[in-house]
Amino acid sequence: MNRPLPFAAPIFVTRPIAPPLAEYAALLESVWSTRWFTNNGTLHQALENALAEFLRTPNVSLFTNGTIALIVACQALELTGEVITTPFTFPATPHVLHWNKLTPVFADVDAETMNIDPDCIEALISPRTSAILAVHVYGTPCAVEPIEAIARRHGLRVIYDAAHAFATKISGTPICAYGDVTMLSFHATKLFHTAEGGALIARDPQVKAKVDLLKNFGIRNETEIAMPGINGKMSELHAALGLVNLRHYEHERTHRARVAACYDRDLAEVAGLRRARPAPDVHASLQYYVVRIDRGHAGRSRDEVHEHLKEFNIFTRRYFYPLCSDYDCYRHLPSADRARLPVARRAADEVLALPFFGELTDDDVSRICEAIRYVLVH
Ligand SMILES: *Cc1c(COP(=O)(O)O)cnc(C)c1O
Repeated sequence: MNRPLPFAAPIFVTRPIAPPLAEYAALLESVWSTRWFTNNGTLHQALENALAEFLRTPNVSLFTNGTIALIVACQALELTGEVITTPFTFPATPHVLHWNKLTPVFADVDAETMNIDPDCIEALISPRTSAILAVHVYGTPCAVEPIEAIARRHGLRVIYDAAHAFATKISGTPICAYGDVTMLSFHATKLFHTAEGGALIARDPQVKAKVDLLKNFGIRNETEIAMPGINGKMSELHAALGLVNLRHYEHERTHRARVAACYDRDLAEVAGLRRARPAPDVHASLQYYVVRIDRGHAGRSRDEVHEHLKEFNIFTRRYFYPLCSDYDCYRHLPSADRARLPVARRAADEVLALPFFGELTDDDVSRICEAIRYVLVH
């Protein structure tokens, strides 16, 4: 096999939707004429309504980003003590617990979905446990039914970090229908984005009302401050970008489906490499395209592949490595003991997110796969 040529320009793991600037500017006209830049303006209201319709749920609250949204979710549900969560996630997930003076308790993950393993949750429940904070990793749904059953049995709250799962549906039901509260991130690296942004979806309208107070300093009216809130509001500029991106979202998702099919075809026969695949009844979010590289069968470690692909101007990401339980700030926790998290450790050593965005051509994908095959055998 000849050494493939490197890409002329770097190929990164994602490339955000960038709608025609004129469409964005048109929406900003009203902002300039009214000088209403933030504080529940018309674009903010329009985006909340549009997302409520899109996600088929009434209780949407927009936020400045997904992390502040999750911090507010913990406040709104008045969580205390310990929260059972996954070590296989982005740093924001355990950090929001720390910022609420809650102790993360790490549970191991499922070998197939890499989401929190419900069979590992119950043994970790203590009298101090108040909630489960689970993540729909790569948009693959968690085992929502078993998790709800455990929560009901023990009187726990359930929060989902659905930062990867904007479009995910289980047998037609949008993912945010599950749990007490679901967080979405609209960061620029997410398929649907507002540059920076996020949302909470509450099952209970009273929780939504509390969330809306908490994200605006707790201000109920001119004279009444109901609770110690924070500033988590989304601006009109970000809401405008969201409204425009929502128009371009299906187009991007369609192209990502094509890119995923190209990868599936080109990588099917590669030994030691397999795709993290959603279940058949799942409408996939197409947030990431992730493969697992089993060193024993592939002949190369994930880290070697990640490193050598850079020579071809291909920049992959090790989502998620290292495990959150290995960070200096959490490794002292009893639940962070590496011996208790064997499945998560293996996932963290094997996963590699490949470049994945709608503008990749079939030819680009073929060249990326050729580089992967070359790296594996040379
Ligand atoms: C992106 C992401 C977040 C954080 O969202 P922000 O909007 O960037 O604050 C949290 N959790 C996961 C799993 C993410 O991927």
